[in-house]
Amino acid sequence: MTERVVIVGNGMAGARLAAELHARAGDRKVTVLGAEPHRAYNRIMLSALLAGRIRERDVALAEAAGHGGDLRPGVPVTGIDRAGRTVRTADGDRIGYDHLVLATGSRAVVPPLPGLDGELPRRVVPFRTLDDCRRILAVADGARSALVLGGGLLGLEAARALATRGLATTVVHPTGHLMERQLDPAAGAVLAGTLAGLGVTIQLAVAATGVAADAAGVRLALADGRSLHADLLVLSCGVRPDTTLAAAAGLAVRRGVVVDDRLRTSDERISAIGDCAEHDGTLTGLVAPAWAQAGVLAQVLSGAEPPARYRPRPAVTRLKAAGIDLAAMGDATGDGPDEELTFTDPARGTYARLRIRDERLTGAILLGDNPTIGTVIQLFDRGQPVPADRRSLLLGRASGAAGTAPAASPALMPDAATVCQCNAVTKGALVSCWRSGARSVDAVLAATRAGTGCGGCRDAVAGIVDWLSQADSVEVTR
Ligand SMILES: Cc1cc2nc3c(=O)[nH]c(=O)nc-3n(C[C@H](O)[C@H](O)[C@H](O)COP(=O)(O)OP(=O)(O)OC[C@H]3O[C@@H](n4cnc5c(N)ncnc54)[C@H](O)[C@@H]3O)c2cc1C
Repeated sequence: MTERVVIVGNGMAGARLAAELHARAGDRKVTVLGAEPHRAYNRIMLSALLAGRIRERDVALAEAAGHGGDLRPGVPVTGIDRAGRTVRTADGDRIGYDHLVLATGSRAVVPPLPGLDGELPRRVVPFRTLDDCRRILAVADGARSALVLGGGLLGLEAARALATRGLATTVVHPTGHLMERQLDPAAGAVLAGTLAGLGVTIQLAVAATGVAADAAGVRLALADGRSLHADLLVLSCGVRPDTTLAAAAGLAVRRGVVVDDRLRTSDERISAIGDCAEHDGTLTGLVAPAWAQAGVLAQVLSGAEPPARYRPRPAVTRLKAAGIDLAAMGDATGDGPDEELTFTDPARGTYARLRIRDERLTGAILLGDNPTIGTVIQLFDRGQPVPADRRSLLLGRASGAAGTAPAASPALMPDAATVCQCNAVTKGALVSCWRSGARSVDAVLAATRAGTGCGGCRDAVAGIVDWLSQADSVEVTR
């Protein structure tokens, strides 16, 4: 009998799962119900859209075209009847399922400030969805100034984007340094300096106490008695997993919907993936684990043998803003007994911190011009021993001693090196794709999905394809 799989949420995880199921054999009907009225899009590229580096049509996800099932955008699910195995939709429909997948993502947190209760004023916009992005752009058009509340990763991407558009932009952040979840105070200070040079003013260690907005502008009151005025206020105060449906249906929910290694919730006919899922006490909030979970769940639902299990990989966070190169990974901010290597050059906006235990990286922050960034990410990702000459890893310069950092040249890269972090595509996978006939950068990208997330690996993939084609032409000439 045809198995009915219903996916709630047509975001990055839901759309990937639908495409993965479509690519696998099996007698199943897949229905995707998405609250947003759009085709699935690449949420992580909204920062680039805000900055004007890409157009709206460029944020479409490849998955949106290759789904093959019953896709219903603009149809929010309002309830789950677990006993009857149906979901209810806002348009009054009831849809039966044999297996239900929650891929409901996260919602932007709106801080509980006077002036932000109820419907948000037109000039005050969170930054989570394509519609949010359109609203920000509509207000920014003709505006001269902007405030961003929250100096985390997304707040800084938004601020840089608005400054690129020529708006005098100020970030207001409640703690003493920027991106405190990923950076230590020294890195935060160097980053603040870099942003200042790019036209973004930073106000640290000051809480917002209220918002007043009208047709003329928006005023943000601060705890130290000052108030800041601008044409636009972007809220970037974190996200919260959307567990509304799961909680109402009586599923186990902590901060997210609790899932096991097979991505099953407390009801074995219901799974959860992506931002809304909590695996082993951890929320992810990143696309790489969301897509890894979609891949594992597709195998589980297809009855793959041996049974697939989700195993989290270490996360690497990168800021995607023009003029700022920042990567942070692992426990880089701790002050435990690990070996520490640091390098700071505030005048050039460069900072590096590596933490090492038992010859392995436990965390790293690399900001600005750090030539070893690719090598550090690889060593961290694969848990490999660091070179004996630490200086080569920190500065990209060998001291002459044995054991220098591995070079980033494609020829010297090990096959197991991850090139695309979002899709976990290794150099070996790119090479076998080339060998099986994909003979251009576009063909290799399409076949492996490398480059379809943040797009940061496209140059590296092009370098590998170039190296492969040169190696082939040498073979032919010989
Ligand atoms: C501007 C921005 C930049 C980012 N940059 C990065 C980055 O560089 N790297 C990175 O790894 N991550 C980044 N992220 C985070 C990344 O986008 C998320 O981790 C990813 O989108 C998670 O996918 P998801 O499918 O779980 O959730 P989402 O993509 O949020 O999709 C969830 C979908 O479910 C829908 N939904 C919710 N409830 C219902 C319901 N009841 N019925 C029907 N549909 C429902 C929602 O409307 C939404 O469309 C960024 C996020 C933003 C906003």
